[in-house]
Amino acid sequence: MVQPALSLVLEALKEIRESQEKTFRVSRATLNRLVESRRHQNVPDIAARAASLGRVRDRVCVCTKCPHLARSRTQTVFGVGNPDAELMFIGEAPGADEDARGEPFVGRAGQLLTRIIETMGLTRDEVYIANILKCRPDMPKGTPGNRPPTPQEMQTCIGYLIEQIEIIQPRVMVALGATAVEGLLGARGIMRELRGKWHSYHDTPLMITYHPSYLLRNQSPGEKRKVWEDMMAVLEELDRPISEKQRNYFL
Ligand code: URA
Repeated sequence: MVQPALSLVLEALKEIRESQEKTFRVSRATLNRLVESRRHQNVPDIAARAASLGRVRDRVCVCTKCPHLARSRTQTVFGVGNPDAELMFIGEAPGADEDARGEPFVGRAGQLLTRIIETMGLTRDEVYIANILKCRPDMPKGTPGNRPPTPQEMQTCIGYLIEQIEIIQPRVMVALGATAVEGLLGARGIMRELRGKWHSYHDTPLMITYHPSYLLRNQSPGEKRKVWEDMMAVLEELDRPISEKQRNYFL
């Protein structure tokens, strides 16, 4: 936030000096509005990012690096949201619902994630959501449910996510669950110890929190509150205001 604001001020001062106009006072609120409108006017940049993501998506769509997953999938699940997002959520892998719809986090866990995002005062369109794996991990025929990706599958697929992150350049990332942590940081840890703290992914602040499916399995209000506290820390990192209602919220 500081760097764009400074460059705005410098540009404005230069324009004033060149136009010989009288100086004027500007409130912080007006300056913030200016900075914000600048961000949304960044259309060529967004278009370029969308085009770059489109090129990665095209490669993902036809990927056969894991032949068993290419055979079993209905379709790949690339990612969804704003190519210029400040905030990016990383999950594990598509499940049956995502495989059928071609969009991450649309099943029960996805509905909970959407509720979390909306309670943060954001929408799915404003953030970006992607997974470590772009294919649903295959299951023996007739077996219900989903399985976690193998280390080999993660290693094979992670390059696509890295490209997505490099294009979007989010200000903050959230790793949902142990598989996302392993994919991003390369190490498996104990979620109880990792969550709720800031980590770093190539200098981008990374918040680790529980996966929404864990919250669906474990209905304890204490665990849900922990995730919500992690999300409030994310809002603070993004310089977003937190209302009293949000502070007192329990998922
Ligand atoms: N769980 C995930 O990790 N990702 C999805 O897209 C859906 C469920």
